[in-house]
Amino acid sequence: MPGIDPQSIKGFLTPEEGAALSDAARECGALGPILEIGGYCGRSAAYLGPMAREAGTILYSLDHHRGSEENQPGWEWHDPELFDKDAGTLDTLPTFRRTIARANLEDCVVALVGPSRAISRHWTTPLGMVFIDGGHTMKAAFDDYRGWASKILPGGILAIHDVFPNPDDGGRPPYEIYRKALASGLFEQISLVRSLALLRALG
Ligand code: MG
Repeated sequence: MPGIDPQSIKGFLTPEEGAALSDAARECGALGPILEIGGYCGRSAAYLGPMAREAGTILYSLDHHRGSEENQPGWEWHDPELFDKDAGTLDTLPTFRRTIARANLEDCVVALVGPSRAISRHWTTPLGMVFIDGGHTMKAAFDDYRGWASKILPGGILAIHDVFPNPDDGGRPPYEIYRKALASGLFEQISLVRSLALLRALG
């Protein structure tokens, strides 16, 4: 079990989704490192990190830490506590670091701070699992999918958060990349736990 309750950390992943993510990480960590996009304040890292360690690998947690569109001032999911007045922008990195320290995960969670695309372009290490939970614009979601899905080893897992088959439940881009992954023939669905889609990378 994680050192702290992941649900006590700011974030949007539900307990049910967190448990499914943990199970996937426990299994895939044996294949290679795990990488998440959208580390935010560390809630999902608190689920994934201990499983990575247990499997003998690490979690790379990627985020520019400036918040997604819906986290910006004036938007629905804005949290004023995460606004850095000096920088005039959101900064979730200090909170993320505090979470990782509090959860005793500094040995197995490595932060990658920067744009997803800039990092994926030069990334060569094959991954056991990729969890996409980044920006919800079409560009952000497709950058994450194009940049990272191809890095997953056969038998590994592509997890995508905020997949809403019914448009009334939420935005489209995460659902669009989920559809694209399935249509590619490179992935097959394992399960859909609330809005968390788990897909298997085929060999
Ligand atoms: Mg999400």
